[in-house]
Amino acid sequence: MTELAIADRTLPAGDRITDDELRTRCARPAFGRVLTEHMVSLRWTVDRGWHDAEVVPYGPLSVDPAMVGLHYGQVVFEGMKAFRHADGHAVLFRPHDHGARFADSARRLAMPELPVDTFVAAARALVRADERWVPFEPARSLYLRPIMFATDPVLALAPGREYRFLLLAMVTENFFGADSPPVSVWASTRYSRAAPGGTGGAKCAGNYAPAFLAQQEAAEHGCQQVVWLDAAEHRWVEEMGGMNIFWVHVQGEETTLVTPPLTGTLLPGVTRRSLLTLARDEGFRVEERPVALDDWQRLTETGAFAEAFACGTAAAVTPIGRVVAEGREWTVGDGTAGPVSARMRTALTDVQRGLVPDRHGWLVNA
Ligand code: PMP
Repeated sequence: MTELAIADRTLPAGDRITDDELRTRCARPAFGRVLTEHMVSLRWTVDRGWHDAEVVPYGPLSVDPAMVGLHYGQVVFEGMKAFRHADGHAVLFRPHDHGARFADSARRLAMPELPVDTFVAAARALVRADERWVPFEPARSLYLRPIMFATDPVLALAPGREYRFLLLAMVTENFFGADSPPVSVWASTRYSRAAPGGTGGAKCAGNYAPAFLAQQEAAEHGCQQVVWLDAAEHRWVEEMGGMNIFWVHVQGEETTLVTPPLTGTLLPGVTRRSLLTLARDEGFRVEERPVALDDWQRLTETGAFAEAFACGTAAAVTPIGRVVAEGREWTVGDGTAGPVSARMRTALTDVQRGLVPDRHGWLVNA
């Protein structure tokens, strides 16, 4: 199949924002608020498949109020990053893996799959169009948000027959601030995120709004994030609102990085997968095994679980300092960022920033 050409309908140079305006807009890039000047758009119909690929100025859409995506939640999305290297060029981190997950999510929601090559080509086209927006500051990056939704106006309860793919970009600082101090987490036993056979393993919009209430509950308990437990027993730790989770298990000389297995109820994070590889490179053992909330507390108290951290595209590696659950709470280590979390964060961000060789072929030039 020949690759879909992406038409260039970018703003003429004279219509783009000035360097001064760009600097002002990016002065304090609160997550999700500083969008760039362009977006990529593609359409899919039963007759034509994917077509009308173009880079266009960022702006509002005109959609039908009866569109399937709005009513029945046929919406999937992704989140990935582009980084500026010291030599000035911009790279994408593991875009093929994000593209593959996007296709998996689409399949789970009975949507057409966007070929991974087209997904990556779209990402490269947008980063090139908005090259000026890729930050030079090491704590910043360009966050890319691909999204696909059903657009046909049919309120019968059935999958759409027309879809729109959009790719947006925004300037971002690390999710929890530049130096990511440890976060405190609330283990929710009242709400569940994902049940067996459900959509927990897919990155679909419908997984996120139901988490807001639990997030409010976390905030009421002085926590920044929710830790999700399994829906059946509320016993096993699965993941966080937008991040996977790791524990640092120290047994004598040996250190093991432990993370829950991919059971279908948690998102298969690209960062999680990267850290499993990098941990081995660093000489740690890795183990994908279920961890009960009770065991997290017990092993923390014996000192065996010396550290815990969250990981994701937005958060990179963020240490967890305190865990709060109904009727109990505990501090992880001494509540500050531990050495293994710090090492894994550096290992990851060094690859992303081009400070060490890209041994695993994770970077793609924009
Ligand atoms: N879990 C959930 C629920 C998420 O939304 C994310 C962010 N995509 C992650 C984990 C981490 O995934 P990744 O490392 O691919 O960003």
